[in-house]
Amino acid sequence: MLTINEIHKSFGKNEILKGVDLTIDKGDVVVILGPSGSGKTTLLRCINFLEKADSGMATFGELQVNLHDASKKDIHNIRQKTAFVFQNYNLFNNKTALENVTEGLVIGRKIHKTKATDIGKKALDKVGLSDKYNSYPSQLSGGQQQRVGIARAVALNPDIILFDEPTSALDPELVGEVLTVMKNIANEGTTMLVVTHEMSFAKDVANRVIFMDGGVVVEEGTPHDIFISPKEERTKKFLKRVL
Ligand code: ATP
Repeated sequence: MLTINEIHKSFGKNEILKGVDLTIDKGDVVVILGPSGSGKTTLLRCINFLEKADSGMATFGELQVNLHDASKKDIHNIRQKTAFVFQNYNLFNNKTALENVTEGLVIGRKIHKTKATDIGKKALDKVGLSDKYNSYPSQLSGGQQQRVGIARAVALNPDIILFDEPTSALDPELVGEVLTVMKNIANEGTTMLVVTHEMSFAKDVANRVIFMDGGVVVEEGTPHDIFISPKEERTKKFLKRVL
């Protein structure tokens, strides 16, 4: 469904992505693991054009896009197929939970407000926030705010949802509720690419795990391959540190 070939990205003299390839099939839940600074977030951001890659191609069904030199139309098309869940939620503070969810539907997808409201409520119900439609972000806990962020992505009904460390800004006691919501939507068959440090999610929910280090994919496989019988020394070393 989505293939990424040979992404390169530098910031100044620092080469962060050194030719990363990635394939995601419909229904996949792919978790990207790796040490801090290995380029996981940058990879995700390049796929959605939040960063411009130095080179690389994305193939999304029929659509083939040069990640360095994409037209506005290409970027629009890729963004129609993807949704992004940010580490720090990125909600509009002056809008309610429901308005945060419907904004992209009305403005980005040109859906009529009445229909968008209906879709938005269903998405908030799905993440367990049916009693918070009219709450502002400041009235919500971090876990609830991130669930609004997830509802916003789900409401767009994208081909794939990109999660960028969705729980790493949360107090530990709020991580579980967000992971549960993510697990629920994964079980519904949502295609997901998730950058996370949550090993339990990678083990229990992912069908494929990618280990990145130093801007390259070091190893990938099933959770069993990576956690039980990793082949590469760098993977073993990383797991020893985090497990
Ligand atoms: P973490 O797990 O800590 O979030 P990561 O694997 O997601 O790490 P990235 O966030 O992709 O890593 O960052 C990789 C490197 O790129 C880091 O050294 C970071 O400082 C650098 N970097 C990221 N964004 C920028 C930027 N906009 N300008 C300059 N350097 C950047």
